[in-house]
Amino acid sequence: MDLDKLTGLWPFGAVLLGAYALTKAAKSETQFTETWEADDDPLEKLKILNDAWNKKVDPDKLKAAKKGAKSDYIGAWTNTPKLPKSPPAGNSWCGLQSFYDVLVKQSAKKKGKWGRLGTPLKPEQQLVVTDGAGIDNREFLVGPRGTDVAYQQYERKCNKCKQAWVASQKDVDNGNKSKERCWKCGAVNNYKENKKSIAYREIKFPVTTPGCGDTLAYVSLTGNPAKQLESVLRPGSVIEVQGWIKPGKEWKYKNNKKFLVDALLITLGSKAHGGSVKLIKR
Ligand SMILES: [Zn+2]
Repeated sequence: MDLDKLTGLWPFGAVLLGAYALTKAAKSETQFTETWEADDDPLEKLKILNDAWNKKVDPDKLKAAKKGAKSDYIGAWTNTPKLPKSPPAGNSWCGLQSFYDVLVKQSAKKKGKWGRLGTPLKPEQQLVVTDGAGIDNREFLVGPRGTDVAYQQYERKCNKCKQAWVASQKDVDNGNKSKERCWKCGAVNNYKENKKSIAYREIKFPVTTPGCGDTLAYVSLTGNPAKQLESVLRPGSVIEVQGWIKPGKEWKYKNNKKFLVDALLITLGSKAHGGSVKLIKR
């Protein structure tokens, strides 16, 4: 690939060009024969980033993303994995430090095997989409990972006290007794049930905070907010999020192997909490 043909250079390209120069210097010094692996080629990576950066988007979609979207998700309070000891890359939590401190306190107070850690990400925080810096996961070079999610759920309403709750297909298949019982008044097997097919778009992408280069956490957007931002986000995009932050799981790559590791996850939270996201700068 010819460097002169790169137009509208991705803003963080200089770092990669530096790495390219170093690699070249190292190669010529040690008289290596040319055995370049595309995966390790900083120029190849730069080209992918450049293409993603220069991708044209529909102006209407850009306008909609800047206007933003509110959470349209009804969440359930679920068990969370362990609190990660450090971010996916780097050693500092940068702009997420104060939220991490809250989670550390929660984690210390936790009794028993199951944890339900989580705290509001409030007020609005600016986050910068990364290319997966420091996690060696190339799938985020071109932007978010998108998934179509579909499943059955059973919306149940207690006949005695009218409290509503949700059971999944898995709960039904496994005869999960706790989902047969109203958690508010304790009535067992005494509810109306409405079976519902759930289908939505989910996007997930790594983020950092302004002025911090390493990937610190992941953001998951679902439903309308996902649709509104998916086509405009690229590494370097700045978004503003108010939502929820908790421990989650995500892939990390090392020496071409992938591992599922504990990592902080940011969502908009249940719609009752008024979580929202908007694009500040593409
Ligand atoms: Zn009840």
